Amino acid sequence: MSGSLNGKTAVITGGVRGIGRAIALKLAHSGTSLIVNYNSNKEAAQSLFQEVNSFGGRIVIIQGDVSNSEDARKIIDSALEHYQGLDILVNNAGINRDNLLIRMKDEEFQKVIETNLLGTFYCTKYASKIMIKARQGRIVNISSVVGIGGNIGQTNYAASKAGIIGFTKSVAKELATRNITVNAVAPGFIKTDMTDKLSEEQKRNILSRIPMVRFGFPEDVANMVHFLVSDEANYITGQVFRIDGGMEM
Ligand code: NDP
Repeated sequence: MSGSLNGKTAVITGGVRGIGRAIALKLAHSGTSLIVNYNSNKEAAQSLFQEVNSFGGRIVIIQGDVSNSEDARKIIDSALEHYQGLDILVNNAGINRDNLLIRMKDEEFQKVIETNLLGTFYCTKYASKIMIKARQGRIVNISSVVGIGGNIGQTNYAASKAGIIGFTKSVAKELATRNITVNAVAPGFIKTDMTDKLSEEQKRNILSRIPMVRFGFPEDVANMVHFLVSDEANYITGQVFRIDGGMEM
């Protein structure tokens, strides 16, 4: 493979479906050697593995739950084991467990925070140790417009995604002198399994708030992530980029 990211190595969490899969394919086509993590969907993992191999890309698939610190360490360390280094981390793994606040179960709130926010913390902590030694690196965290503007029925998800934004900016400040950039992207409504669960009425309501009158594609997010990990984004850190068809301006 040859491309603009030739020779780079990347870890993508939750990368076998949806947005993570689009990011994996985009980076693989640009020559990145990939470690792609999944939690439970082995079938999707095998399908991505085959697709990347079919065009000569390099990929290692690793099962693990990012909300578990030891699993997160194993996922990050596999980049050292297979590729002897780590240039790029994309914290993409995420879940939602929607409910109105008064009905929200403690476990629902906790599970979302553990996966989305703690998972991002664990992977970033372990990856940053490798990147600091190498004095270079790129970290992109997948937040959400819901983390900026809030949403009814998503107090847990919004708190996790807002947490990711504060975390991103703090890590960006801590690691800036080591030539490590840390940015967040905040997608709006993107066509994946996560948004397929919405009712037709919810989808109609959302569409009426999007000036471009369509949901985004996973590739719309992958293109921004690709830019942020490329040399063209050398001087961009601590920022949050909305990809939402103009939903908020
Ligand atoms: P999907 O539900 O399609 O995919 C989620 C991915 O995360 C899956 O690969 C899943 O693995 C993985 N995952 C879930 N829990 C864990 C865990 N504990 N450890 C490791 N991996 C895990 O979601 P999307 O592609 O839609 O979302 C990707 C990211 O983008 C998420 O962070 C989401 O919050 C964010 N986002 C999505 C938006 C949208 O409209 N779709 C909008 C804004 C943000 P497995 O397949 O094994 O279950």
